[in-house]
Amino acid sequence: MAKIGINIATGSLQQQEMIVGIDLGTTNSLVAIIHPESKKPVVLKEFDGNALVPSVIHFDDTGSVTVGDNAREFLITEPQNTIFSAKRLMGKSYNDVREHASYFTYKVIDDDKESLVKVQVGTKFYSPIELSSFILKELKSRAEHILKTQVVKAVITVPAYFNDAQRQATRDAGKLAGLDVLRIVNEPTAASLAYGLGLKKDDIKTVAVYDLGGGTFDISILRITNGIFEVLSTNGDTYLGGDDFDRAIVDYWMSQLELNKESVDKKTTQVFRLLAEEAKKQLSSADLFEGNAEGRPVSLSKKELEEVLIPFVERTIQCCKNAMSDAHLSINDIDEIVMVGGSTRVPLVKRSVASFFGKSVNDSLNPDEVVALGAAVQADILAGNNKDFLLLDITPLSLGIETMGGLMDVLIPRNSKIPSKAGRQYTTQRDGQSGMRISVFQGERDLVKDNRKLAEFNLTGIPAMPAGLAKVEISFLVNADGILVVKAKELRSGVEQSVEVKPQYGLTDEQVEKMLLDSITHAKDDMRTRALVESQTEAKILLDTTQQFLEKNTSFLSAEELAATQHAMNSLQNTIPAGNKDEIQTAIEKLNEISRPYAERLMDHAISTAMKGKKV
Ligand code: ADP
Ligand code: MG
Repeated sequence: MAKIGINIATGSLQQQEMIVGIDLGTTNSLVAIIHPESKKPVVLKEFDGNALVPSVIHFDDTGSVTVGDNAREFLITEPQNTIFSAKRLMGKSYNDVREHASYFTYKVIDDDKESLVKVQVGTKFYSPIELSSFILKELKSRAEHILKTQVVKAVITVPAYFNDAQRQATRDAGKLAGLDVLRIVNEPTAASLAYGLGLKKDDIKTVAVYDLGGGTFDISILRITNGIFEVLSTNGDTYLGGDDFDRAIVDYWMSQLELNKESVDKKTTQVFRLLAEEAKKQLSSADLFEGNAEGRPVSLSKKELEEVLIPFVERTIQCCKNAMSDAHLSINDIDEIVMVGGSTRVPLVKRSVASFFGKSVNDSLNPDEVVALGAAVQADILAGNNKDFLLLDITPLSLGIETMGGLMDVLIPRNSKIPSKAGRQYTTQRDGQSGMRISVFQGERDLVKDNRKLAEFNLTGIPAMPAGLAKVEISFLVNADGILVVKAKELRSGVEQSVEVKPQYGLTDEQVEKMLLDSITHAKDDMRTRALVESQTEAKILLDTTQQFLEKNTSFLSAEELAATQHAMNSLQNTIPAGNKDEIQTAIEKLNEISRPYAERLMDHAISTAMKGKKV
C-alpha cells in the first residue's frame, strides 16, 4: 500500500512533501517542482539530462508496458501495439475522432460510435484514461527516483479548450496512477505563471499564449486580473505541429531525390523522418544541415526550410487573427506574448509571431518545459508557500450523481472554485419511463456506495416516450455560500424539480482527509470495478436492444443470421456474471460484428440510438 504524507490526525501535509507539476503532453510529458533551496521552478531530469518523456506506450505480447523513449522505437515496427497521442482520445467518442481515423495506426474501437472510445491491443481493451495513467505512472516513478521521496500530490495541465469530460478523464488518469490531483490547470495559464505573469498583486494584463507542439497548435488569449486567469478566447488546429514540419521536409527531400513516397518501405521512411526532425532542430541554431539517408546524401539550408514551413506558419497566424477577433481585441491590447511548445524554437515561427503582434515575445524559458514549470508554480501556490497569492474558496470533495450500476458521475470536481456550476444531459432507460430518481453524492470513490449521500429526489411527469429519447438536464450550482442547488429538467416537456443541500454540513476536516486518502488507496480497485460495471451495463443494453430488434424484425433475417445472433447473445450473457471486462468487451465485439450487416441492411436505428446519452 502506498504511504502518503498526510497527517490524518491534523489533516496537514508532512513537511518534506512535494507537490509536483505535470505537463501531460500529446507528444512529450514532463514533471517540474519548486526547488526547495532556490525556490525557483525546475524540471526533473534523468541522469542523461533528458526531462522530456515521449507520450508513447508500448505493450508487449505478455501485456507488459513500456513508456517513453523505449516505447517510441516500436512506433514503426509494431504500430498495432504502440499507442501515441492518447491525449487526443481523452473524453472522446468514436464519432468525435472518426474524421481523423487514419491518423491512428492502432485499433480504436468503432462499433459504438456514441460511447467513449476504447483502444484494442491484442485481446485487451484500454480506455484513454488507463493509457494516460501509464504515462503518469512512469512520470511519478521517475520523479520519485530523482527526488528520492514518495510523490503523491500533483497539479496536471490540460489545453484551455478541454471540456468538463476531458478534464475529469485527466483527473481519473491521475488517480489511477496513484496521484492526488490537486488541480487541473490550463496550459496557457501555467505558461504565463512560469513567466511570473499574474503573480503580482493588482496586475492586470492581457496575454497571448502561442503553443505549437508536436501535433497540435493552440492560441489562447488570457486576461489576468488580480491573480485570476480568464480565458477570453482559444483557437488553433488540433492537427498541426512539428510532425507536419518533419513530413514536409521528408517530402521535399524525396522529390529532390526523385523518390516515390508510396514505393519507399517503412524503414526508409522512418530513417528520413528521423533525419528530417534532426535537420529541423539543428537549423533552429545552424544555417545548413547535411546528412545521409541510407547512403543518399541530403542537405537543407535554413532558407529552404523556411520556404517549406511558411504555409504552416501562415495557418497559425490566421488562427491568431481569429482568436483576437473572438476576444474582441486589437493587437494593441496584448501586453505579453508567451511562446510554448518545442516547435516555437524555429526562428521563423518566433519572427512571424513577433511581427504579427508587433512586439517581442517571451521566449527566455525552454518552450517545451514552460508548461510544467508553471504547473510547479501553481502547485506551490496550492501548498500555501506563496503568501502573496490569494487562495480562492474551493469545494473540498467532488459532487455528482448516481448513474447506472451504482457509479458516481462527477459534475463538480473537488477543488473547484466557488461559486461553480456544471450541467450534463442524461436520458431514460425504459420505454415510457415517467420518472427519474436523482441521487446526489459527495466523495472521490467510483461507486456511490463508498461516497456520502447528500440528497435524493424524483423528477416526475416525464411524458411517455421511447427509452433514450428523453433529455434530462441535471445542473449543479455551488453558490458563494457553499450551498449546492441541484436541478433536474426534462428539456422536451419542460418538467423540472430541484433540491438544495449544504454539502459540508456535519463533515469535519479529518473526515474529508480520510475520504481523500481512501480514494487514493482504492483507486486501482475502484477503476477496475468502474470499467467492469460499465462493460456489464453496455452488455445488458446491447442484449436488450438486440432482443427488441429481433422481435420486431425476425421475418427479415435468415435462419443463419438468427442462429448466429442467438449464439453470440448467449455467449455475451454468460460473460456478464463472470466479471472479466475484456471477455465482456470481446463478446460485445462479436455480437456487433454479427448484427452490424443486417442492422445496416434494415436501416433500423434502434441499435445505434440505444446508447445515446448516459442513463441514470
Ligand atoms: P507537445 O506539447 O505536443 O507534447 P512539445 O512541446 O514537446 O510537444 O513539442 C514537440 C515538438 O517540438 C516536436 O515536433 C519536436 O520535433 C519539436 N522540437 C523540439 N525541439 C525543436 C527545435 N530545436 N527546433 C524545432 N522543433 C523542435
Ligand atoms: Mg504541450
